[in-house]
Amino acid sequence: MSRLVMKFGGTSVATIERIKNVARHVQREVAAGHHVAVVVSAMSGKTNELVGWCKEGAALYDPREYDAVVASGEQVTSGLLAIVLQDMGIPARSWQGWQIPIKTSDAHGSARIEDIDPKGLEEGFARGEVAVIAGFQGIHIPTGRLTTLGRGGSDTSAVAIAAALKADRCDIYTDVDGVYTTDPRIVPKAKRLDRVVFEEMLEMASLGSKVLQVRSVEVAMVHKVKTFVRSSFDDPADPKPGTLICDEEDIVEQQVVSGIAYSKDEAQITLRDVADKPGIAAAIFVPLADANINVDMIIQVVSDDAKTTDLTFTVPTADYERARKILEDHKAEVGYKELAGATDVVKVSAIGIGMRSHAGVAARAFKALSDKGINIRAITTSEIKFSVLIDAEYTELAVRTLHTLYGLDKA
Ligand code: ASP
Ligand code: MG
Repeated sequence: MSRLVMKFGGTSVATIERIKNVARHVQREVAAGHHVAVVVSAMSGKTNELVGWCKEGAALYDPREYDAVVASGEQVTSGLLAIVLQDMGIPARSWQGWQIPIKTSDAHGSARIEDIDPKGLEEGFARGEVAVIAGFQGIHIPTGRLTTLGRGGSDTSAVAIAAALKADRCDIYTDVDGVYTTDPRIVPKAKRLDRVVFEEMLEMASLGSKVLQVRSVEVAMVHKVKTFVRSSFDDPADPKPGTLICDEEDIVEQQVVSGIAYSKDEAQITLRDVADKPGIAAAIFVPLADANINVDMIIQVVSDDAKTTDLTFTVPTADYERARKILEDHKAEVGYKELAGATDVVKVSAIGIGMRSHAGVAARAFKALSDKGINIRAITTSEIKFSVLIDAEYTELAVRTLHTLYGLDKA
């Protein structure tokens, strides 16, 4: 019999009414003859509340106890869905991470799944049961402690369970009906993509598209899990297929650019008149790395006098003040004259595996943006994406301009 993993996010299980709706989606797949494992998130807002309570309890809390607290939201929804399914005459039982077990590292709060033993779930299938699994959580076996996988981690639970069960499909149900060419709130013409390649999805997730946890896309890519993003708000009797995340070979007609993303979570730092000599980049970036601050875009200007240069880079907005402080503390070693910064900036990116085989894709964007009078503060490129840093006030204009430029308005 074919195996199917279905995952439902927080808004899909937000109330008992919504959980009953989820049960109808599950009922449809059971009736179609699949063995079904369902992975659930906590009710929407629940995990935030639990995290808030930990912070209220103590400014510096024990991360093991944080995991004990925040994992509880999924325990509730897994039990509730099993109750509702049973009431509909569908045999079902709930599984907590430790019961399966989902073995993880001991990085509490952001643990990695190391191994999943599918035996218990398979025995349940043999008894005709639907397995309702609490997402987001696992166990570190050597210490016997509960762990959680980082915010949004139940996506990763679902994909990892699909890999362990060698499931035919993993359907991620959420409150949108798929992956879009860009944010429809900014570009009403944004289109739902029928398919998107793993690598592209990975970039989109890393660039701030909240549809899937980054780690879940990595796991899906490595294990080639056929993953769909689809909506739990569709009629359970007549759902739409959503967006398939798949291998490059499974794409029939590849666009050069598949999507435009933007992230407001960037801040710019510029160091002026930095000595132009070996060791300076290390003097700047090693202390930031030691403080766990992720530097993204970096631009170093070639100096005309070969003595001093300007260096611009970006850090996450949340780390901006900390990064400034570190650089001020290291002013003597680095030897810059002035530190300038801006937080009212946004990173706009275009993503597409077609960029590998097409030249000049980014160049067209630079031209189009300058035609609109948008100044580019920094640029980064990789094989399948490029990003520009611009003033935040131009976000919508830039996203719309690129969306049109690459033919996505009529995708
Ligand atoms: N409930 C967890 C969170 O809000 C995990 C998830 O929903 O994926 O982050
Ligand atoms: Mg999520």
